Amino acid sequence: RKPVVAIVGRPNVGKSTLFNRIIGERIAIVEDIPGVTRDRLYSEAEWQGKVFDLIDTGGLEFSEDLITTKVREQIEKAIAESDLILFVCDSREGITSTDEAVAKNLRKSEKPVILVANKVDDYLNPPANFYDLYRLGLGEPFPVSAANGTNVGDLLDLVISKL
Ligand code: GDP
Ligand code: MG
Repeated sequence: RKPVVAIVGRPNVGKSTLFNRIIGERIAIVEDIPGVTRDRLYSEAEWQGKVFDLIDTGGLEFSEDLITTKVREQIEKAIAESDLILFVCDSREGITSTDEAVAKNLRKSEKPVILVANKVDDYLNPPANFYDLYRLGLGEPFPVSAANGTNVGDLLDLVISKL
């Protein structure tokens, strides 16, 4: 079967923007307000002739107190269903307790994970919190800007090398 790549992370880090960027169409709903994208979205994606299914797991976004639990559930599903996980963090905001909880689950799993440091809009001047992401214990954060496309091609090179 086709490999499955899941995009996980807490609300508002840019999962849907990255999903759209990768599939090249504006299918997922991108909103400034967390809680708008309701369903998980699947799409076939292709890079350098390699075809895979991409999942935007951003569907489960509820009130603040439920976020951690719901994001955790997403992660468990993503771990079970996918071959590779793109764990998206926000380089501007840095690490939150939800990020830490997700990172802990991912470290325990055997799945390959790429720690995606989103919102590095200017590659030469990463936000100060970018360096914070090393603390998640998931290796080097991979800087991208889903919004302007910076480094997304290099991210996809890395993705297909792991499939
Ligand atoms: P999701 O909740 O994780 O799916 O996040 P969205 O994709 O809906 O994005 C949340 C907000 O972050 C939106 O306002 C996006 O425009 C913004 N955003 C996403 N990616 C980037 C990025 O690379 N740079 C910047 N500056 N903003 C971004
Ligand atoms: Mg979303």
